[in-house]
Amino acid sequence: MAEYDYDVLVIGAGPGGYVAAIRAAQLGLKTACAEGRETLGGTCLNVGCIPSKAMLHASEYFDAAASGTMAKMGIKVKPELDLEAMHGQRKDSVKGLTGGIEFLFKKNKVDWLKGYAQFKDAHSVEVAGKTVTAKNVVIATGSSVTPLPGVEIDNSKGVVVDSTGALELASVPKKMVVIGGGVIGLELGSVWRRLGAEVIVVEFLDQLLPGMDMDVRKEAAKIFKKQGMTLKLSTKVTGVTVKGKKATLTLEPAAGGDAEKLDADVVLVSIGRKPNTEGLGLDEIGLEVNQRSQIETDHDFATKVDGVWAIGDVIPGPMLAHKAEDEGIAVAENIAGLTGIVNHDVIPGVVYTQPEIAGVGLTEEAAKERGAVKVGKFPMLANSRAKTNHEPDGFVKVIADAETDRVLGVWCIASVAGTMIAQAAQAMEFGATSEDIAYTCHAHPTHSEAIKEAAMAVTGKPIHI
Ligand SMILES: Cc1cc2nc3c(=O)[nH]c(=O)nc-3n(C[C@H](O)[C@H](O)[C@H](O)COP(=O)(O)OP(=O)(O)OC[C@H]3O[C@@H](n4cnc5c(N)ncnc54)[C@H](O)[C@@H]3O)c2cc1C
Repeated sequence: MAEYDYDVLVIGAGPGGYVAAIRAAQLGLKTACAEGRETLGGTCLNVGCIPSKAMLHASEYFDAAASGTMAKMGIKVKPELDLEAMHGQRKDSVKGLTGGIEFLFKKNKVDWLKGYAQFKDAHSVEVAGKTVTAKNVVIATGSSVTPLPGVEIDNSKGVVVDSTGALELASVPKKMVVIGGGVIGLELGSVWRRLGAEVIVVEFLDQLLPGMDMDVRKEAAKIFKKQGMTLKLSTKVTGVTVKGKKATLTLEPAAGGDAEKLDADVVLVSIGRKPNTEGLGLDEIGLEVNQRSQIETDHDFATKVDGVWAIGDVIPGPMLAHKAEDEGIAVAENIAGLTGIVNHDVIPGVVYTQPEIAGVGLTEEAAKERGAVKVGKFPMLANSRAKTNHEPDGFVKVIADAETDRVLGVWCIASVAGTMIAQAAQAMEFGATSEDIAYTCHAHPTHSEAIKEAAMAVTGKPIHI
């Protein structure tokens, strides 16, 4: 008889957990995955990446028709919004994809243990009143919305909401205030602005999109303003009161000063996400979290407790689905005795607004702190495809080491920046120089040619500008 019920038990079936479980099973390990949600796929598939992209994609079509972009190309239409149908296609995407994971679990013989898991000891976990044992336990419990002190979120009322509530609004708000100018706030703010809402973004810092390259952050602010968003930077929200269907926010300059009031029909609180570690019973196994409530691991994703591993949003690093997925593969391979590695220096990040905003590697500011750099920039206005498609906004920026020419970072604002950034990530993974990219033949006419031209600009020799 086996010593344990399973070789591997994964807690959480988000992109980190479900991928880890499938890879472990593929490697011949007897695997189970505990998930408390009704459907598999975690935040990403249920209330994150996928539903937000469904609403972004649909609202982009609406905006193209309503704003005159289509008319510019000779297509005259007056769009009429059927919000219920738009939500319907969002729900269909979620249903199809979460069901797909259930199918993959069955195909790979991963047992889905339905319920929230809690540690009893390092190799025993209780799920829905039953104790299950495993030689290895992978914590992949993800993250949830960071609350704003003094502000009560109630998605059911639809006035003060988090990202989950903002995905499901039953009508287009007249005025929406987004607290937090990060990725999620800008994406969901864009959805409702395109559908007709007046959108005001309140951000504590003096620029949007913390963590991104400063040129990109400044350009993004210009573009969002041009699209009609109001940005209140260097401003903090000190309180929100709700009366019936209306909210009133109290704002103050971040550096201190006179308070002002702002009314809204909907307030979206999107100031970040916090790791899900509460209620897991970490005390039972003597595992402590760091100051940011994250579980620390070593390079192999092993925690300090023998046989207990952790991946995804619950550990340090960018809270991104693809980072969680790659860690899921790596941890399963490490458990199986193989070598699973994730290069955390090359994790692309994308904001799926229009234009998209994407980056990989170091910002120019961070690169300069390490030593001398050369920078090449190329505007999308000079890219033939972007110009032809009426998408003139944005640029590509390539940052290379001044001495070795090795590419340290690539940043793009372009309609398809999220797709373009993949080639930059691959080049950096292979240790490319800017010259390697500049001498790689790119298909014409494509937006990606702007990456080649920005790489050529590193040595001062772009052709089309
Ligand atoms: C609105 C929004 C949009 C986003 N868009 C993108 C995007 O476009 N691209 C991108 O890369 N990232 C995006 N993200 C972030 C992305 O969703 C997360 O980085 C990703 O889901 C993290 O994966 P994970 O597996 O670590 O955790 P999660 O996806 O959070 O999954 C963890 C799962 O664990 C379960 N769980 C928790 N505790 C227990 C327990 N004790 N027992 C059993 N189950 C438990 C939870 O129910 C959850 O289903 C977005 C997030 C949001 C909110």
